Amino acid sequence: MITKPRGTEDVLPKDSKLWQYIEKTAREVCDLYGYKEIRTPVFEHTELFQRGVGDTTDVVQKEMYTFEDKGGRSITLKPEGTATLVRSYIENSLYANPQPTKLSYIIPCFRYEKPQSGRLREFHQFGIECFGASSSSTDAEVISLAWMFLKKLGLSGITLNINSIGCPVCKKEYNKKLRAYFEEYKGELCATCLERLEKNPMRIIDCKSEICSRIAKDAPKMVDHLCTECSEHFEETKARLSGMGIDFEVNPDIVRGLDYYTKTVFEFVSDCLGAQSTVCGGGRYSGLVEELGGKPADGIGFAAGIERLILVLKAQKGEEVSFDDGPDVFVATMGDEADKTAQKLIFELRTKGIHAQQDLCGRSLKAQMKYADKLAARYSVVIGDDEIANNKGNLKNMGTGEVKEVSLTAEAICEILDAEVR
Ligand code: ATP
Ligand code: MG
Repeated sequence: MITKPRGTEDVLPKDSKLWQYIEKTAREVCDLYGYKEIRTPVFEHTELFQRGVGDTTDVVQKEMYTFEDKGGRSITLKPEGTATLVRSYIENSLYANPQPTKLSYIIPCFRYEKPQSGRLREFHQFGIECFGASSSSTDAEVISLAWMFLKKLGLSGITLNINSIGCPVCKKEYNKKLRAYFEEYKGELCATCLERLEKNPMRIIDCKSEICSRIAKDAPKMVDHLCTECSEHFEETKARLSGMGIDFEVNPDIVRGLDYYTKTVFEFVSDCLGAQSTVCGGGRYSGLVEELGGKPADGIGFAAGIERLILVLKAQKGEEVSFDDGPDVFVATMGDEADKTAQKLIFELRTKGIHAQQDLCGRSLKAQMKYADKLAARYSVVIGDDEIANNKGNLKNMGTGEVKEVSLTAEAICEILDAEVR
């Protein structure tokens, strides 16, 4: 038997309603905020991520699905959405429209990681990016969108952590202090972090290795070394969030995955996911559009992991989160003629927006009724020769057992459903 590749998942029909619920909620919130969907390729030139995610990040150093195509180009399956959106923003001159440019996406992402609960090799992200606005009101808007999305999903036990990691000016001074601090522990840092010590010491704070994270615990914090502008931006962002009634905690250890983050960074963390607890992460970045060949423009965005949201939803609402999608009516039949009549009736009911079902597998009447129960049909009607002759049947409410005589027309059935179901 051929099985799925390690770290991938099939979304089975019992779960797909849950996915659609999350996607629908994401789209509704984006509509409220004016974030328009953008659809981009699943693969890009490898260089885009080397430059756009940063070559000192775990994603680029260890996790990318990179291969050479038949034309000898180095291609990478998207590990995240931001770099691609920046590329598209530049390539399609979206900066020429009135700014900011507000974009949203739902994409598959690929990272060669050690698969475990909440950590897959193919996973999905809902994310947004806002280009061309540097105000703290934008930070507050983006964070509030993520907050509203998670609220509308009905999740609880989610904490918003925010931090500021400064701008190139204050980061430079801070990096000197940080480098001096980590120099003391040179003998203990992992090989990757030794390299980071030269190129981007802040990344060491994000290292998952036990020793590095222990050392990083007492390192100087960026929030304590912000320049006036960054400090004001951070204070203003926090005040605006508070103004909207959005609770948050300042966590000086959040530095986030991308190399180009500046100023505000944030994460939404769930209390029921164990090690893979971050359901959504994002932040502001300033050098990225320029780095990828565009005229300087600020960006800010976030990405939420859909598989992790599903885990939270299931943990909080029970494994079998039920999104009731049983048929409104099941039409059971006795005989071939009845079966044909039923199909026509069901077609007309569906045309009117009623979810109707019949048996397609030649079941006995008894087995059909069992099947209707399994499908959680709300009503059923049995059609046989007598019913066809009189054009009348008994519509049974499967919940209460109550029976009503009804003409076998879509109109008549709809009338009862409209009165009782809707
Ligand atoms: P982590 O620290 O958990 O590795 P990250 O910082 O690498 O996360 P981001 O690049 O910020 O994650 O991606 C945004 C979100 O995508 C994460 O908060 C998480 O919900 C989800 N995510 C990231 N990697 C995976 C993965 N391998 N499998 C499932 N979801 C993931
Ligand atoms: Mg990661």
